[in-house]
Amino acid sequence: MDELSQLKIGFIGAGNMAFGIARGILKSGDVPSSNVIISAPSRNNFPRFEDMGVAVTHSNKEVVDHSRLVFLAVKPHLIRTVLNGISEHVTRQHIIISVAAGITLATLEELLPVGSCVMRLMPNLPCMLQEGALLLACGKGAGQDVESLLKRLLSPCGLVEVGPETWIDVHTGLSGSGVAFVYLFAEALAEGAVKMGMPSELAQRIAAQTIIGAGQLLRDGGKHPAQLRAEVCTPGGTTIYGLHALEKGGLRAATMGAVEAATERARELG
Ligand code: NAD
Repeated sequence: MDELSQLKIGFIGAGNMAFGIARGILKSGDVPSSNVIISAPSRNNFPRFEDMGVAVTHSNKEVVDHSRLVFLAVKPHLIRTVLNGISEHVTRQHIIISVAAGITLATLEELLPVGSCVMRLMPNLPCMLQEGALLLACGKGAGQDVESLLKRLLSPCGLVEVGPETWIDVHTGLSGSGVAFVYLFAEALAEGAVKMGMPSELAQRIAAQTIIGAGQLLRDGGKHPAQLRAEVCTPGGTTIYGLHALEKGGLRAATMGAVEAATERARELG
């Protein structure tokens, strides 16, 4: 089993996702920043990586030569070009992890040497704050040891789960897009308060904290959401009146439909 402190890690692409993942990994303190290198064609995004002590380069080949584990963090339409450029330098020792939406394990395996160790990782935006929800899917060449290594490495970025590749699109609907669904709900909560006379800025701050607090109780309390909801409902009280209004408005069906629509769209794009 690899020691994280010895692991050489590279990122191809220096955008938001690479930054979020790199920051999480480095924040744990298990991986020294001198073990990490990142590449991109322009210097624009380099300063925030240099501030973390990460080496930067314009050469994707240099990243592959330096690293055992390489994250592909470019936009999906660039994956083919990037892999064509590095494929001949990829060996059986490398672990290649793509975060590109819609690029399948089969495509990655086809573009890399036979027997390459390939994985897909689907993060979401709160990775930036180490509160992400990440789903890993393993290719044929990625065994149990690689899976555990990745889980350990990525755990400082948030919740890390492993599943079959078909769940990647569901995860995109549930969590990638789900972040925006929660923002819409937050906005509506605050607007309800504004309608009832509270200043907008204050209502937004309280709505955000309500979502954080409710989320932490849900994540850490070990209870089903229906149970937590029942605990807040005094018979004949305010909450059950509000919940009735939400059910009449179709919140439950609309939310299920949103996850379904986003998952199907992710499948279409893949
Ligand atoms: P981004 O545009 O912020 O970053 C892309 C980076 O790739 C840039 O630094 C760019 O300079 C670099 N780049 C472009 N061409 C390159 C090349 N030939 N070689 C090396 N680097 C090159 O994009 P992002 O939001 O970080 O997304 C990256 C990937 O993450 C995408 O494939 C996306 O599908 C996936 N993803 C993003 C999110 C999200 O919420 N942003 C969530 C899940 C998955």
